[in-house]
Amino acid sequence: MAKKAVKKEAECSDVNCPDHGTLSTRGMVMEGVVTSDKMDGTVIVQRNYLKKAGKFNRYKSSKSRIPAHNPACMGVREGDKVRIMECRKLSKTVNFVIIKKLSE
Ligand SMILES: [Zn+2]
Repeated sequence: MAKKAVKKEAECSDVNCPDHGTLSTRGMVMEGVVTSDKMDGTVIVQRNYLKKAGKFNRYKSSKSRIPAHNPACMGVREGDKVRIMECRKLSKTVNFVIIKKLSE
């Protein structure tokens, strides 16, 4: 994909797009890496974090995988870093939407 600094003109007809649709976002904001884009309009975002473990003040690495809606105008692929935000429930498992693509 070509790098473009300003690429907000991209229109899409996705109703569930936070920019062009009617979907409102609220709640938690998280960043993660897309590990699967196999679904239609949905991606899996993986977040790695450190979790306090045990009585010796050590941390162990932990991860969470969150299904998030991928609006048509984002064009997010596997391996991309994204910012996701909570929204209303879009399906049985999806209640996050991608609001920004952080890397190419
Ligand atoms: Zn859009």
